[in-house]
Amino acid sequence: MHVFSIPLRTRFRGITVREGVLLRGDAGWGEWSPFLEYDDATARPWLACAREAADVGWPEPVRDRIPVNVTVPSTDPQRAHDIVRAGGCRTAKVKVAERGQTLADDVARVEAVRDALGPDGLVRVDANGAWDVEEAVRAIGALDRAAGGLEYVEQPVASVEDLAVVRRRVQVPIAADESIRRADDPYRVRDLEAADIAVLKVQPLGGVRACLRIAEDIGVPVVVSSAVESSVGIAAGVALAAALPELHHACGLATVQLLTDDVAVEPMLPADGMLPVTRPEVDEAALARLAADDERVTHWRRRLEAVGQDRAS
Ligand SMILES: [Mg+2]
Repeated sequence: MHVFSIPLRTRFRGITVREGVLLRGDAGWGEWSPFLEYDDATARPWLACAREAADVGWPEPVRDRIPVNVTVPSTDPQRAHDIVRAGGCRTAKVKVAERGQTLADDVARVEAVRDALGPDGLVRVDANGAWDVEEAVRAIGALDRAAGGLEYVEQPVASVEDLAVVRRRVQVPIAADESIRRADDPYRVRDLEAADIAVLKVQPLGGVRACLRIAEDIGVPVVVSSAVESSVGIAAGVALAAALPELHHACGLATVQLLTDDVAVEPMLPADGMLPVTRPEVDEAALARLAADDERVTHWRRRLEAVGQDRAS
């Protein structure tokens, strides 16, 4: 067991440092990095994902490169334009509905992103559940016009019920992200016909095989996304994206650049909008450089014991 602590470039979910555990098994390295506020039950599928990676390995890939999106934070149009140009991706995910900003801000950002991508790129927006139904219907129409057609809108409203309502009132496809956090959630989204696309993350849903089963069951296209892991954790998401029978959309796996450093010899960073389907080699010097202090190691060791025992009991 190795505990890492990597500063983020910018605050994410209220945190400035990404911590987690790397486990080494017969199949390679696995990452266990549930967020700090999660209780043991919530953190358990995250551990199943790490153990699958370390002890079992992953199903055979059916593709060798994964298209990924660049993520544009809720920033001004010029910076949004620059981020898309620097990203080299053909799909951009634009954060919208930020508190303190207006729909006009979102429209200007989306217009800048379309301009940077050119007519052939795809623009998706992510509201992180911040709108109510009426706001969502109005905003989606405006942003769809600003983009000259949106690929989809991710989690426009918070609840699955409202997602289903919005989906019936707009033409733009709806993706469920925050509505899918536990193993049962994708089935609820399916049963309410609440989304056209499901965003799946391997750690919260219990690993690559668990996600492949979900993808088979739910009957809508899947976008694989990260939980802002190190390259070891990203490799599990890449393994899922690589093993899906069909992959229609770019994935949200280009997030290693949100970290100031990484544990891999060759970090899982995209080239020409693609991630290679590989398992990164862990860099011993980086492990030493990024090792958490004793207090944090003790914390994670206790947590690992508690969550692992929970599973057995
Ligand atoms: Mg999202």
